[in-house]
Amino acid sequence: MATRTQIYKEVLREYDALRTLKAAELRERREAIYMKLPRLEEIERELSLLGVSTAKLVLMQPESREVALAELQEKQNALKTERDELMAKNCLSPSLLKLEYVCETCKDTGYVEDKQCACMKHKLMDRLYDQSNVRDIIKLENFDTFDLRLFSDEVVKAEGISPKENAQRNLRMAMAFAEDFAGDNLLLYGGSGRGKTFLCNCIAKDVLDRGKTVLYLTAGQLFKQLEELRFHRDEEEETLDWDAELLDADLLIIDDLGTEFATMFTASELFRIINDRKLRKRPVVISTNLDYKALMDQYSDRVMSRLIGEYTTLKFFGDDIRMKKKYAR
Ligand SMILES: [Zn+2]
Repeated sequence: MATRTQIYKEVLREYDALRTLKAAELRERREAIYMKLPRLEEIERELSLLGVSTAKLVLMQPESREVALAELQEKQNALKTERDELMAKNCLSPSLLKLEYVCETCKDTGYVEDKQCACMKHKLMDRLYDQSNVRDIIKLENFDTFDLRLFSDEVVKAEGISPKENAQRNLRMAMAFAEDFAGDNLLLYGGSGRGKTFLCNCIAKDVLDRGKTVLYLTAGQLFKQLEELRFHRDEEEETLDWDAELLDADLLIIDDLGTEFATMFTASELFRIINDRKLRKRPVVISTNLDYKALMDQYSDRVMSRLIGEYTTLKFFGDDIRMKKKYAR
């Protein structure tokens, strides 16, 4: 997985390559046109010479400079008119002799003054989407497609409310979380097929669309990666990059915690990540099939007291939504 820095560098390299390509294309177009219309080449040369003369004007006395400048501009205009007419007569668009940009705003540099151009943000976002691991799924699973009709409105005695009311509440809280994004954390828990992953995807898309970086991993993927890095400590840089990504991503989503086999190592790494991100005020969303007791068994008290004590918990219960969807088809 590429880190944000790597993605950024890659995108900058792409802009470089794009500008080189466009410059080469322009040269080719020019050569072809000049072959056909040699007068055009003369005009272009004269125009660039006039440009040099204009630059020399600053050395002149102010009075004579005004006059000379007016003269130069007149010559320039005459040449430009001749050029445009010649092009028009030969059915050539004036743009053929100009550099072509994919993005006029930043002239394919990615920047407007010191600020990232919208096209660059878009490119970066695209990569982020790509590697958030949820690019395709969030087209289908997002706040707009969240279907409350799938949830029963029959009150579950032990809970005191219906699955539908509960889902409504969870939805509201997830939306508020994505919108505020103020360092709050979520713990989604309940049986499988109750809509936790769906809601994680909704949050991921909403946060990505707000221009934030999202790293979406199942606990299995996360721990596998951590284990791998543990045994490749010599590749220092990569370890640091991955670590930075885990800690710096604006939002980290760990889906399906508890299905993987937790070792002392993974448990302590989980604690470290949760703790570091808390210090950086970077939100985490965790979903798990395990109930409180099972989580306690699998993870240490210090992990769990963090999770339960400092995370907003969203409980999921009711029928298996996935089964319902399947039969509804
Ligand atoms: Zn641009």
